[in-house]
Amino acid sequence: MDPGTVIVLLALNLVGIGALLHLIARRMADPAGLRAFGTGALAFGLAYLLRLGMGFSSGTARGILSDTGMIFATLSFAIGLQRFSGAVAMNRRQVVLVLLVYVALAGAATGLWQGVGRHAALNLALGLGYGVLATLAFAAAKREIAPLRLPLRVLAVLVGLLSLATAARGVAVMAVGMQPLFAGPWAQAYYTYSIVVITLIGPNLLWMVFVRLNERLHALATHDALTGLLNRNGLEQVMQRHFASRPPPPLVLLLVDIDHFKRINDEQGHAAGDAVLRSLAQTLKAQVRGGDVVARWGGEEFLICCQGSDPARAPALAERLRLAVQAERHARLDASRGSTDCTVSIGVSFAFNDRSTWEAAARAADDALYQAKREGRNRVVVASGCAAVAAQATRGIQAGA
Ligand code: GH3
Ligand code: MG
Ligand code: MG
Repeated sequence: MDPGTVIVLLALNLVGIGALLHLIARRMADPAGLRAFGTGALAFGLAYLLRLGMGFSSGTARGILSDTGMIFATLSFAIGLQRFSGAVAMNRRQVVLVLLVYVALAGAATGLWQGVGRHAALNLALGLGYGVLATLAFAAAKREIAPLRLPLRVLAVLVGLLSLATAARGVAVMAVGMQPLFAGPWAQAYYTYSIVVITLIGPNLLWMVFVRLNERLHALATHDALTGLLNRNGLEQVMQRHFASRPPPPLVLLLVDIDHFKRINDEQGHAAGDAVLRSLAQTLKAQVRGGDVVARWGGEEFLICCQGSDPARAPALAERLRLAVQAERHARLDASRGSTDCTVSIGVSFAFNDRSTWEAAARAADDALYQAKREGRNRVVVASGCAAVAAQATRGIQAGA
């Protein structure tokens, strides 16, 4: 196959990938860099086609136009990577500025040294741009979740090597002229490697995007959107892992229910109720320790799985939670109207360490919670049989408070 046909196929491949990424991003509220990746692939493909249409070695203004398309594509990929990894991305004005600087420098170099000037400017600028891309990908790989590290490192290595080779072409053209750019073994090696990069980069981007989407779907399926806590499904998965360890550490369930929550909704509105739920979730999370799990069990009910073999710990934690919620001033939506007080009642189950006892423990915590409500709310009740330990723990807390 002649080089022209190869370039057309590669360019069409890039255009296809770019269009596909745009189509995927169209329906997403937060496309995480997808659109910029798509624009990068499209711009690269179109710039290559334009270049092919005009002939490669020309030193004209039209040549600079297709070269600027490649610089724009590289910037789009960089923006895509910045957005993908949650960093602050370059804005439109900065992109325009970089492009103007490039056009000015490449124009001056072309005016002074014709084709040599144009190709030196292009290769040095692309070499630098690819270097920035590789650095961004390496940096993102360090911060990202484990399944994203490999595709980001692959991207960094692919583009990093391309950066060195492209910059070397820029230096070579200044030293010995244009000949090594288009003919000879070095040109062949460069084109072969470019083909490898272009062929692999599309699937690599799709790999990254699918891992990211999968991670988002998993987070949506396992977490409550309002409070960010685990939902029942997420709790189920965490518990499966807990009981799979041999032997699993004992658990105690704490069922926390907000007292008279309906009143907050009725008197201040549903949005204020939501704000209290969010703030309460933070309070609960701040009080538990590493191995404990906090989940939203239902509307205004939270379930805490307290880990550990000390029988006094769960009742003590429950009492600490109750006092922390009581002390908390939940900000009102209308700040000028002060804050919303709220209290919780907590039912504490017995300790258990096998999966089959889960339902019985949840029922025991529910019964204890019901009793706490009957006895006047804003209190902790421990499932019968554990009451002596609880009384001791509660006294300890109150004496220390
Ligand atoms: P008790 O002290 O007996 O627990 O009284 P309560 O008012 O807290 O309990 P009740 O079960 O009567 O009311 C619970 C309320 O919680 C009713 C429901 O509208 C509200 N609720 C449930 N989920 C949400 C939510 O996501 N946001 C808001 N704002 N309210 C919610
Ligand atoms: Mg309730
Ligand atoms: Mg309630």
